[in-house]
Amino acid sequence: MDRAALVALDKRRVWHPYTPTDEYLASTDPLVLTACEGAWLTDMNGRRYLDGNGSWWVSTLGHRHPRLVEALVRQARSLPHGSLAGCTHEPAARLADRLVALAPEGLDRVFYSDNGSTAVEVALKVCGHYWAQNGRPRRTLFLALGGAFHGETLGATSLGGVEAFRRVYDPWTFEVLRAPAPDEPGGWERAFLALERAVLERSDALAAVVLEPVVQGAAGMRIYPPEYVSRVRALTRHVDTFLVADEVFTGLGRTGARWACDLAGVSPDVLCTAKALSGGLLPFAATLVTERIFDGFRGDRSRTFWYGHSYCGNPLGAAVALEALDVYVDEMVLEGIPPRAARIAERMSALGALPGVSNPRALGMVGAVDLGGGGYLSRAGWRVYSQALARGAYLRPLGDTVYLAPALNIPLGDLDALLDALEQSVRAALSL
Ligand SMILES: *Cc1c(COP(=O)(O)O)cnc(C)c1O
Repeated sequence: MDRAALVALDKRRVWHPYTPTDEYLASTDPLVLTACEGAWLTDMNGRRYLDGNGSWWVSTLGHRHPRLVEALVRQARSLPHGSLAGCTHEPAARLADRLVALAPEGLDRVFYSDNGSTAVEVALKVCGHYWAQNGRPRRTLFLALGGAFHGETLGATSLGGVEAFRRVYDPWTFEVLRAPAPDEPGGWERAFLALERAVLERSDALAAVVLEPVVQGAAGMRIYPPEYVSRVRALTRHVDTFLVADEVFTGLGRTGARWACDLAGVSPDVLCTAKALSGGLLPFAATLVTERIFDGFRGDRSRTFWYGHSYCGNPLGAAVALEALDVYVDEMVLEGIPPRAARIAERMSALGALPGVSNPRALGMVGAVDLGGGGYLSRAGWRVYSQALARGAYLRPLGDTVYLAPALNIPLGDLDALLDALEQSVRAALSL
């Protein structure tokens, strides 16, 4: 099919995520992807683009890693699917054991699902259900943070603290206790005190505190001190309620540590992982819980966790995830992050010195700056996007936050080229 026909077909039939409809139909000439490899995307015109965000944060080992592709094909030849309802298989069992070994201390049981949102839904149902049948049935409330993003399903949407994504769904979402984002002006200590007040006041009703440890991703790569997370951990222990760490974005090396919880030296009661877990090959997720939580579902049949997706623990996903975790070790992926992170941090602070650019920040393999502040500049993020495409880089912004979240093992030369493209694109977009 030629490119024009393909784009026409797309515009007639495909509904794109997070995409303003009329604008797309009238004036977007989409990237038509045909291939990818390492840090690169290739389009139908044969042009190559450096992928600045690992294709929505999933491709942490580079696109089409040969070992992951091989693991996928190998698994597809024997057992591409098998439900976990009364059955098991080697990839699911071995992966669960591996995740427990890698996870913060005390997370001993693994529940599988399909994506980041479902990993969070599992966490919500597990926590609420646990208290319902373990002596605290009034514990039905969740506390989440301003700026939080936990996914698209209605439970995850309820937790969401990005107003624009949530407001219209208010009639069908549940109330949550909301604490200020840790990076609000006034400092994280003040934000923590507000959370502490809410937790102490409502501890009888509180099923869990849910947070994205250290980096709030979708809110605009908002980075806050690990100490906030350790204070929340101490507080939730004090009132004996659960801490859910949503590591769907931050987990498996994004922040430079294996888990963002490791930066804070904490073990949550529940940890959600997805995205990087299957290295950008297929959707796959896991929710890890403590033995205490698992034990809360033992006993007679009425205590069962009535939950499961058709693709829970899918062997293809589990086999790819196992291989991905091996690649982290064999290719020393985490060990390779510090020199890359240093370059990102240095270039972000240089960008932050440009007029019209503010709030430079970086942690591990995340770097971001903010542009403008409404009015004319409120489209600045997207102007950077267009400028970057012209320079061979894919830099989809989050509103007026321009950021990088590339593959963790991006070759240094590619990283430098990406950082150069980012700087040139920002300068061009701001006419500097
Ligand atoms: C992306 C994301 C999710 C949702 O994951 P999906 O796979 O897109 O459903 C949940 N939590 C966080 C922190 C995320 O970044």
